Amino acid sequence: MPPSIIDCTVTYCRDENNGLKWELFSYLLPEDILKSIAACEITIGDEWKDELIWDGSTHGGFSVKSVLIIIQNEGSEISDGLWRQIWRLKAPQRMRFFIWLTTHDRLMTNAHRVKRGLATDPKCKSCIYEEEDTLHILRDCIYAREVWNKLVPVAEQDTFFTLPLNTWLRSNLEKSARPIWPILFTTAVWWL
Ligand SMILES: [Zn+2]
Repeated sequence: MPPSIIDCTVTYCRDENNGLKWELFSYLLPEDILKSIAACEITIGDEWKDELIWDGSTHGGFSVKSVLIIIQNEGSEISDGLWRQIWRLKAPQRMRFFIWLTTHDRLMTNAHRVKRGLATDPKCKSCIYEEEDTLHILRDCIYAREVWNKLVPVAEQDTFFTLPLNTWLRSNLEKSARPIWPILFTTAVWWL
């Protein structure tokens, strides 16, 4: 989410006619969510405080535990080894969460935006050549490749650049001969 709107409240997103400034956030959300928002009547009375809350917990505060509960309820593979690998990483929570979204192919790439009717061009904005899907933006784009070419030993590059998304993530998050690799990999993926 862009830093400019990460702390947005409803008041901030309203225009002078009590409508919403859709341009601030509509490109970030799928169509079904946008329709739900459009169907809501937004009123802010004195009895309610306009503030950010996390819907996944009863007190409104964000916690990893509440995310775990939501995932369990969604029937995701919480006991899956990959999940444990991610959560054991000694990395900031935002990086681990980002990697988890990646394993579920939940990054809002241009290819996803086109599928959801939020954009018309699925191309990568960096190389302006290939379709921007998760693997492209994190590994296969020529700009991402420049980074990986410097980090991944030459002998391992053939495998590194050909694995499908989930296997690629899993194999790079596993403990390896280079103990620092899982955290180095996670950090590189985060910054790409
Ligand atoms: Zn590209």
